Amino acid sequence: MSVYNKILVAIDLTEEAPQVLKKAIDIGRQHNARVLLAHVVEPVGYAYGGDIPMDLSELQDQLDKAAREQLAAYGKEYDIPEEDQVVTVGRPESEIHHLCEDKGVDLVVVGSHGRSGIQLLLGSTANGVLHGSKCDVLAVRIN
Ligand code: AMP
Repeated sequence: MSVYNKILVAIDLTEEAPQVLKKAIDIGRQHNARVLLAHVVEPVGYAYGGDIPMDLSELQDQLDKAAREQLAAYGKEYDIPEEDQVVTVGRPESEIHHLCEDKGVDLVVVGSHGRSGIQLLLGSTANGVLHGSKCDVLAVRIN
């Protein structure tokens, strides 16, 4: 039996995402594991502090659509079927925790910029995922 059966790789939509994704795919192959690809769209209201009385639902829908399209493109490239591509809305760290628990994931893969000093204190998504995760966490160093 493999050590890992279900791996969730969480990606942002930057040009760094393939580095994280490729590692997760390699590990998935080695373990013969299912690989879920996830992106969390942050609620646009957060960016404005919720103060401005504007209907942001259209913008939110566009972000959601763009995320689904990007995941579909990666899915095609890396052979991840549509049912294993997940887009949710919320705070990345807590959404990733929820997804891992919900879907019975045993390894979550995220990217890490290897921040130190004040940047580390300010926090990173990798740190946030590590703290409170109920499954193993792999932080892929981004070059
Ligand atoms: P950061 O700390 O924001 O630079 O992000 C580091 C890593 O966290 C990324 O390489 C992704 O693996 C993950 N991550 C960051 N933002 C998101 C997001 N919105 N959805 C999914 N994963 C994310």
